[in-house]
Amino acid sequence: MNPSCPACLAGPTSIEGHADLTVRTVGSTLLTFQCRRCQRNWARSMQGGIFTWKPIDAQSARTLAMGTAVPPRSDPFDEPSPGS
Ligand SMILES: [Zn+2]
Repeated sequence: MNPSCPACLAGPTSIEGHADLTVRTVGSTLLTFQCRRCQRNWARSMQGGIFTWKPIDAQSARTLAMGTAVPPRSDPFDEPSPGS
């Protein structure tokens, strides 16, 4: 795994997280983001009116992708084949 960029090391905050995060998936209560600099995945949820960020791995990013996928420019969001 790539080393985290300084912004991810510090941790995302507020609604946008940090400037290099791009939205991967949008759900009703949870959004997933990926950092353009270090490819780290993050999930953002809302709890009590406060945005809560947690780091997730790529597999979790797929599992959590309950909403509409936002296709990245040239990085297809492949599904693993079941049972392999
Ligand atoms: Zn980063």
